[in-house]
Amino acid sequence: MVNERMYKLGSEPSAIRELFAYGMARKAEIGDENVFDFSIGNPSVPAPDAVKQAVLDLMEEPPTELHGYTPASGDPRVRATVADHIRRCYGVDATPGNVYLTAGAAAGLAISIAAISQPGDDVIVISPYFPEYKVFIESAGCTCVEVPAHVPDFQLDIEALDAAIGRKTSAVIINSPNNPVGAVYSRDNLEALAALLERKEAELGRKLYVISDEPYREITYGAEVPYVPCVYPRTIVCYSYSKSLSLPGERIGYLYVSDLMDDASEVSAAVAGAGRALGFICAPALFQRVIERCIDEPSDVEAYAANCTLLTEGLGALGYEFVEPQGAFYLWVRALEPDAQAFSDRAKAHELLLVPSDSFGVPGWVRVSYCIPRETIERSMPAFKQLMEEYR
Ligand code: PLP
Repeated sequence: MVNERMYKLGSEPSAIRELFAYGMARKAEIGDENVFDFSIGNPSVPAPDAVKQAVLDLMEEPPTELHGYTPASGDPRVRATVADHIRRCYGVDATPGNVYLTAGAAAGLAISIAAISQPGDDVIVISPYFPEYKVFIESAGCTCVEVPAHVPDFQLDIEALDAAIGRKTSAVIINSPNNPVGAVYSRDNLEALAALLERKEAELGRKLYVISDEPYREITYGAEVPYVPCVYPRTIVCYSYSKSLSLPGERIGYLYVSDLMDDASEVSAAVAGAGRALGFICAPALFQRVIERCIDEPSDVEAYAANCTLLTEGLGALGYEFVEPQGAFYLWVRALEPDAQAFSDRAKAHELLLVPSDSFGVPGWVRVSYCIPRETIERSMPAFKQLMEEYR
């Protein structure tokens, strides 16, 4: 007999994937150029040339070594390169032993949650949130506790977090720059979170971790993105090259257990155990080596910034309400009726694929992913206009 929970997860794909699949089928039917697919966060900027060159150069290396297993936590040379990068960029004296290479941020998240929680614990997420958090949290036998972001700025709501943190809380997952709202948490806001967690640790007599999900760290439009371990020591950073170097299909990233936390070596051991228990033998070997060579490659955010301006100016002029993004490549737009699914369905009739907000944990909004060709955004404006007129 199949596992009921897994059956449900497998047979009811995420709202994002479902819309993405619909878009693929629809494009095959009526042509790519006639579908305005704002569904998925697949970077539209190509990976840097340095990545291609690194792959070509690596092909000259002995294949048994190149394509072989690496140690579970990653190739020691690559871990050392990542630790050095953290040291150079953020001034944290990172040791390679606390860097664990992962198959993207998703693996880092699943491993982190399993490493620092017991079944029955509460893991807090800030709604609206990346829907896979709930899947990873519940798979670890924990409860996903949703705490709404502070409205209208979508920063962390410290009072609401204060009320939500209790005897069963093990961690708070934060994501800045944020998917889906594009918010970047300010230093003051993160410092207030750190002060709260330190007070709560003392009150409750238990360790409270921050899991900082950072696939969009470099994708900002001018906002400062503080390094969370420098603000709150008991932080695990889940980093990914999926967006910063446009490599989502290669499944490469890392998890960093902050050296600044007093239990770092214990947490790193639990991370290794969780990776093992979850069946992550090692991160993709070839792309570990690519990262070693491309660690200082800058992210190309220009195209996303231009798309952001085009979309916000266009939708603003049409009368749509949205959250002004400070980073990532998503626009959080108020649905024109309370039922986000119904609104997304009506948008579909105009070939606009907008993800309803329900699976992000809140009603009444849609996520518009703008990591797409600029021309698609330009050509979508009449459809957005007709959609708005339908509601007038
Ligand atoms: N976290 C957030 C907020 C994301 O948006 C994504 C992907 O879109 C991930 C994690 C997973 O990224 P990765 O491809 O690195 O596993």
